[in-house]
Amino acid sequence: MGPPGAGKGTQAKFISEKFSVPHISTGDIFRENLKKQTPIGLEAKSYMDRGEYVPDDVTNRIVADRLTWDDTKNGFLLDGYPRTLDQVKFLDNTLSEKNQSIDRVIELVADLNTLVARLLNRAKEQNRADDTEEVITKRLEVYQAETAPIIETYKKRNLVIQVDGLGEIGTVARRIITAIES
Ligand code: AMP
Repeated sequence: MGPPGAGKGTQAKFISEKFSVPHISTGDIFRENLKKQTPIGLEAKSYMDRGEYVPDDVTNRIVADRLTWDDTKNGFLLDGYPRTLDQVKFLDNTLSEKNQSIDRVIELVADLNTLVARLLNRAKEQNRADDTEEVITKRLEVYQAETAPIIETYKKRNLVIQVDGLGEIGTVARRIITAIES
């Protein structure tokens, strides 16, 4: 978990390879659906373009579907999910039905100004429609309002490890791996 621009996607790729578990990114799934112009992709687009969250029922459905794949039997890494309280509850129920549970929550911590700069830079490199300055501000606001509070839920369960998200990519990856293995 962590705010937009903290490097979740980049780090999730490393970590999923290191621990040989699939990397499940709801943002990536929405972007793939959009590329293929599926109904889910088209519905998600309007929210993503505004920097808002896709409705919980849509998001929960794609995650529940993804978690039925065989490759999740021995573990998985969720990236960008859950982001709302409703999603936390849905995930709890889905996992308990499968006799699985969350082992760790990695929170990438980063300073707000650095994040805005990073996101603007990524916008230039990747041409993402949701990386204009207005949308970036909105995404950070939505994160503060909806997602920052649910990290508290996981803190109460003693699952959260905070990792400094600033620094060179490999350095941050090593911090996360050390945190997971400790
Ligand atoms: P990301 O690449 O993780 O930043 O996700 C890009 C966009 O996809 C977000 O700004 C949301 O519009 C949407 N999205 C991704 N994950 C979720 C989620 N868990 N709940 C709602 N919307 C999401």
